[in-house]
Amino acid sequence: MMKKLLLLCFVCLFSFSNFVAAQNNLPEMKLTKSELEAHMKFLASDELAGRRTGEVGNNVAARYIATYFEAYGLKKAPGLDSYYQSFMLEMASPPSSGSLKMNDVDYTFGTDFLILSGDANEVNTTAVFAGHGWVDENTDDYKGLDVKGKVVFVLPGKPGDEDRRAIIDAGAQKRKLAAERGAVAVFELYRMQFPWDFFRRNYSRERLQVAESSTGKDETGITYGFFKEPSPNPIIELQNGKSFKIELKSTAATSKKIPTQNVIGIVEGSDPNLKEEFVLLTAHYDHVGVGKQGGGATTEQDSIFNGSRDNAFGTVGLLAAAKALAQQPSARSVIFLAVTGEEVGLIGSNYYAENPLIPLKKVIFNLNIDTGGYNDTGVVSIIGHGRTGTDALIEAGLKPFALAVKANPAPEQGLFDRSDNVSFARKGIPCITYSPGFDEFDEEIRKYYHQVTDNPDTIDYNYLHKFCQGYAHTTRQVANSKEKPQWIKGDKYEEAGKNLYNK
Ligand SMILES: [Zn+2]
Repeated sequence: MMKKLLLLCFVCLFSFSNFVAAQNNLPEMKLTKSELEAHMKFLASDELAGRRTGEVGNNVAARYIATYFEAYGLKKAPGLDSYYQSFMLEMASPPSSGSLKMNDVDYTFGTDFLILSGDANEVNTTAVFAGHGWVDENTDDYKGLDVKGKVVFVLPGKPGDEDRRAIIDAGAQKRKLAAERGAVAVFELYRMQFPWDFFRRNYSRERLQVAESSTGKDETGITYGFFKEPSPNPIIELQNGKSFKIELKSTAATSKKIPTQNVIGIVEGSDPNLKEEFVLLTAHYDHVGVGKQGGGATTEQDSIFNGSRDNAFGTVGLLAAAKALAQQPSARSVIFLAVTGEEVGLIGSNYYAENPLIPLKKVIFNLNIDTGGYNDTGVVSIIGHGRTGTDALIEAGLKPFALAVKANPAPEQGLFDRSDNVSFARKGIPCITYSPGFDEFDEEIRKYYHQVTDNPDTIDYNYLHKFCQGYAHTTRQVANSKEKPQWIKGDKYEEAGKNLYNK
């Protein structure tokens, strides 16, 4: 009995040490700190000038990622002859100046009114009021009203609209309705709860969008803006059915086309039965640029938003995983997708989700990396932990590197719905965001988050090393797992998941 037990233990020990040896031989275990440090120091270098979408530094970062995908032997995505998924952006700039005079009172551009779109305009005409300026089966605010050649003032949004999004979304249709009836300008009355200054900053600056998207695009050329109704408020007279003289001048809105790209490569799975299933890894490689465009404070010595943490850190993780998985593939295939345009509204991941190169229903999981910063190097923060049935796989992926999980940090920030993973969650794909360790947005995070101080010489490279190894190893756990990830019951994306996979 004793002998048998001993033998059993010996077998146990033997196979366990074999297992450990096999684990230690995995390529992610052999990733070196120096290679990851080198990636970081290139991607976050001053020369890349904050990797702003559409600019040279961003394109050089994309080239760097593609070059390593090639060196690691990644396959190109079906239908592509390079590692680039190229597409066109449009930089739309609203009119930069204008003047407005009503009943001999001058109103100030930016303070009293804003013009968001339209061609150059100069008119001396009549102002009229037209309800919400809306027409549908229940409403016709233009009935019996002659607006030809006139400037129309309207209530915000469609009848019943309260929130800002709905009001803005209705704008395109309202411009069209006014233009079709021959109006030369349409102003919505600014009656939102939202502070005017915030609105002005948000909507009167240059906006990047995918060129073929319909949102915000204006083909009518009609002058369109918001009027803040200072007191005394001239609109009251209009609402009472009167009309009066108005002089309006505006410069033209402009737009220019800018090419950009996601970078994508694939490692084919080793299991013939599973290789048609894919794990999708994503990290955004763009950041916010230099100087004013960066949005934060600059100093005389430094105006470059290097984005070491946000998100060179994640991009290095993606490269690390690409190298490790290419050297020894997992059972399932893995897609490596470095996305552009995160900082300007999740543009790259959205574009991919709308234009996937592998059908989305073949993707079982999205493991995104994004970073605001870190203040705890003993953990990895998992945003979405507990929602997709992958908790044990993630913990197993981190364990060899003595990293623990910090589940769902800073819940008040709503991080799950703010990074690229949400582009895929909305399509139903179970996902998490893998983030360097933090618990809350404290001083240590704010010191670097979207600041010129986010330089590569402030990075803890021992941590970057463990973090990237953990990411690669976690990917391997998910891509080898028998069970597929699945939204837990009652999750807000559960229904989308059912629709995607036709369950
Ligand atoms: Zn950011």
